[in-house]
Amino acid sequence: MRLGEQSSLQPYRPVVKELNAIQPADVGERDALLIVSSSFGDGEPPANAERFPDALAQWPDRHRLRYAIFGLGDTAYPHFCGFTQALDARLTQYGARAIINRVDADVNVERFFTTWLTTLDKVLAGDAQAGRDLHLRVTAYGEDHAFNAALLERRPLSARTPQAWHLRLNIAGSGIVYRAGDTVYLLPENDEGLLIRLAEWLGRPEAIDALRRRELRQISKTTLRELAQLADSEELKSLLKIRQRKSLESYLYGADLLDVLHDFCPPHAITLENLLALLPICLPRAYSIASATREESLDLCVRDVRYERGGRTRRGTATGWLLKHPGPFRLFCRANPGFYLPRDTALPVLLIGTGTGIAPLIGLLREMAAQGERRETVLIFGEKRRDEDFLYGEELVTLNATGVLTRLITAFSRDAADKYYVQHAIDDHADAVSGLLQRGAHVYLCGNRQYLEHAVATALEQACGAENLWQTLIEQQRLHLELY
Ligand SMILES: Cc1cc2nc3c(=O)[nH]c(=O)nc-3n(C[C@H](O)[C@H](O)[C@H](O)COP(=O)(O)OP(=O)(O)OC[C@H]3O[C@@H](n4cnc5c(N)ncnc54)[C@H](O)[C@@H]3O)c2cc1C
Repeated sequence: MRLGEQSSLQPYRPVVKELNAIQPADVGERDALLIVSSSFGDGEPPANAERFPDALAQWPDRHRLRYAIFGLGDTAYPHFCGFTQALDARLTQYGARAIINRVDADVNVERFFTTWLTTLDKVLAGDAQAGRDLHLRVTAYGEDHAFNAALLERRPLSARTPQAWHLRLNIAGSGIVYRAGDTVYLLPENDEGLLIRLAEWLGRPEAIDALRRRELRQISKTTLRELAQLADSEELKSLLKIRQRKSLESYLYGADLLDVLHDFCPPHAITLENLLALLPICLPRAYSIASATREESLDLCVRDVRYERGGRTRRGTATGWLLKHPGPFRLFCRANPGFYLPRDTALPVLLIGTGTGIAPLIGLLREMAAQGERRETVLIFGEKRRDEDFLYGEELVTLNATGVLTRLITAFSRDAADKYYVQHAIDDHADAVSGLLQRGAHVYLCGNRQYLEHAVATALEQACGAENLWQTLIEQQRLHLELY
C-alpha cells in the first residue's frame, strides 16, 4: 500500500494488488511489476502470494516482464528471504529483466526501503544503471556461511569446577539482529592436543589441519559401523548390535574418535582418507543468548566441559574452543520465538533455571530492563552453593532491587545438610507461585533435560493443586522450555 501511495510514483498510475490476484493483462509491455513480499517458514510465500509462482509459469509473455523485487525477511530464520530469492531466480530463468537488483531486507527495513524508492525513481526516469548499481542484501549467516565474532570479554562466573563463564562476542557490522530468547550456534574447531594425537596415530602430520573442523566427539552409529568394517573389529561390531544399546551408550559417553581408534582399530587399518570420507563437519553447538537485543555484541553463559578419561584430560569441543582459544569464533544466530516474552505486559512471568539455564532468563530480564518494562516477574534459580555458583548473582540482586525482578528465589542444593532444589523452592513458595499462575503467568524453564522438567512439573502441580497443570500450560502456550 505504502509503495502505491508514493507521490513520485503517481505519474505512472500505480495499481496495488495481492500477488495471487495479478493477471497477465494487468502488466502491459511498458509496465514494471514491483514485488514487495515477505517469506515464511522454509522460504514459503505468504498466503496472498501462494498461487503466484504457478500462475506466472503459465503467463505467455513472462519473458518480457520488467520487474523489481523487495524481499522482506529475518536473518534469524534459516531460509532468509527464501520466497523472493526463488521468485527472482525463476523470473531470470524465464528471461524477464530485473530493473533493480533484488533487495533482501532484514527486520530493520526502513533504511533499505527509502534507498530502494530513490533508486526506483531514478530507474523509472530512465537511469537504468542506478538499478544495476544498487546492492541491498543483508547477509544471512548459517552453517555454510558463519560470522567470525571476536572475543570482547571472558570471565568466570563461578568458583567451582567445572566453572561457568560469561562471554561477550563482537558482532558489530555483521548485520545480525537477535532478540532475547534467541539461540546462537557455534561452529567449533577441535582441540589441538587431540588433533596432534590423532595425527600421531595415523602417522600423518597433515591430519592436524585436515581434521580440525571434523566432528570427533559426537560419533554417529553409521561412522562406527564403517570403522568396524574397515578395521574388521568383531568387538565393535558386537557393541553395535541392538541388544548392546546401553553398553554402547555408556562407552560413547565421554569418548572421542581417538578412543574408538585405540580401542577397536589396529594401526594402519584406518587411513586419514577413510576418516575424511566418514566424518562430517563439526556439528553446530547451540547456546542461549544471555543479552538483550543489541547490534554490536552478544553474551553467552557457558559451562566448561572438562573431565578425565583413560589418563587424558578431555574438553568439550565447543566449550574447550570458546574458553581456551583467542577467537574469532564462527557463529550464526537463529530465532527462537518459543522463548520470547508474552507481548501483553500485564501477564506475569515465572522464570525457573538451574546452572547455565540462567542464560536465556538473564537475557529476558536484561531485555525488560532495557525496555523499561515492568511486569510481575519471579525468578527461581538453582545451583549448588551460594558463595561459589550464584551465576550473575550481583546483577540479579540489582534487578530485584530496581523492580525489574519482582521476586528472586534461590535454591542452593549443597548449602544445607539436606539437598534443596528448585522444586523444593516451589513447595516453599507455593502460595506465591500458585497466585502467579492463576493470574495467567507464562512459565520459562531452562536447564538440565534429564532432571528438571518432571521435578518442576510435579512441584507446580502440587503447589497449585491442579493435576494436569503442565498439560494446560502447554495447551495455552504458556510453557516455554529450553532443556538440554
Ligand atoms: C537450545 C540449547 C541451548 C543451550 N544453551 C547452552 C548454554 O546457554 N550454556 C551452555 O553451557 N550450554 C548450552 N547448551 C549445551 C551446548 O550446546 C553444548 O552441548 C555443550 O556446551 C557441550 O558442547 P561441547 O562441544 O563443549 O561438548 P562436546 O564435544 O559435544 O562433548 C559433550 C560430550 O562430552 C561428554 N561429557 C560431558 N561431560 C562429561 C563428563 N563429566 N564425564 C564424561 N563425559 C562427559 C558427553 O559424552 C557429552 O555428550 C545448549 C544446548 C541447546 C540444545
